[in-house]
Amino acid sequence: MTAYDESNVFARILRGEIPSRPVHEDEHSLAFPDINPLGPTHILVIPKGRYVSFEDFAEKASEAEIVGFVRAIAATAKKAGLTQADGGQGFRLVANAGPAAHQEVPHLHMHLLGGGDLGPVGAQKPRDKA
Ligand code: AMP
Repeated sequence: MTAYDESNVFARILRGEIPSRPVHEDEHSLAFPDINPLGPTHILVIPKGRYVSFEDFAEKASEAEIVGFVRAIAATAKKAGLTQADGGQGFRLVANAGPAAHQEVPHLHMHLLGGGDLGPVGAQKPRDKA
């Protein structure tokens, strides 16, 4: 796994060098809209710690960070009106990890997608290697 790159765009957002409009923020996590939304609601939830990917986070983060991140995702979905308990229609979570998944930004981020019919996840079939 590659070392953490301090110049990645989400590190710069966390340092306040690039503006964002937080949907949710707490001790361990930050959530903000994706700059290139794939649907009516597309929010990114990131841990504040320096973790390259999901596997890096799972291996190295403290239990408080892991619990905090999961709760922050749920709180963000609730604030965005996506949770069924609050009358929403549900949501999809996606975390790309590594080149096969086309992870572009090397700081763990969970895509929170919703606001309409997302279609079955099986519609996104992996492409064969050329
Ligand atoms: P991934 O391919 O999983 O690494 O996704 C990276 C996501 O970051 C893409 O959906 C981009 O649209 C999004 N993104 C890149 N720069 C910004 C930014 N400054 N603010 C919000 N989202 C961004």
